Amino acid sequence: MKRTLHALLALVIALSGCTTGPKFFSESQLAAMAATQFSQLKEEMTVSTDPAGTAQVNRVSRRIAEALGPDLPEADWEYVLFEDPSANAFAMPGGKIAVFTGLLKLVDSDDELAAVIGHEIAHVLLQHANQRMSAEVLRGVGGVVAAYGTKDMSDQNRALVLAAYGAGTQLGIILPYSRAHEIQADRLGLMISARAGYDPRAAIRFWEKMEQSSPSSVPEFLSTHPGYGTRLRTLQEAMPEAMRLYEEARRG
Ligand SMILES: [Zn+2]
Repeated sequence: MKRTLHALLALVIALSGCTTGPKFFSESQLAAMAATQFSQLKEEMTVSTDPAGTAQVNRVSRRIAEALGPDLPEADWEYVLFEDPSANAFAMPGGKIAVFTGLLKLVDSDDELAAVIGHEIAHVLLQHANQRMSAEVLRGVGGVVAAYGTKDMSDQNRALVLAAYGAGTQLGIILPYSRAHEIQADRLGLMISARAGYDPRAAIRFWEKMEQSSPSSVPEFLSTHPGYGTRLRTLQEAMPEAMRLYEEARRG
């Protein structure tokens, strides 16, 4: 019998040995906010018309969504490839997945793309946006943009940040994840891609590549990360369990 990801989630949280933060929002509230924000982003940013890239994002996202179905029963899945040179991707509550063309350029296989999407959707499953937003409420939300600073960003990134902020809520995509959250997402992301039948070893190859890519294009998922050594150790520790899930998925 396949274990649900809930069991894995509990394991991930237990293994990472950190408590979860306060959550002031219901997941359905967050999903509703995310849906609004996501449609705004689609209007304000350019949706890619590259057929091969779009097909790849759809193919990999769909397989991951299918594998996650029972864990996110209310998700209204949507996958979009944005035309944007930055090497970035994100997922939002309610099953919204965005990949930027700048990231897709660095991806050499579906397995590698699955590593990225698995990581991003792991943040959603772990309700990290909820915790970050709740932490912002505690801190007082004002000045997030000022503190974050947009002047060194590309126009596209600035537009994304301002759109996210202007959409009324700090939904999470503009606030960096904590290191603890990154480690959790690395570990659970590996399980997610493996369970969808993607080779989890691709995660190591991909992060290695990202580490060597230019620092100016460092995406969200590396910017606050505890460094490649820690990430590699996390992935290697989780690899035997991920390989077991991968082989199980391949046997069908
Ligand atoms: Zn991340």
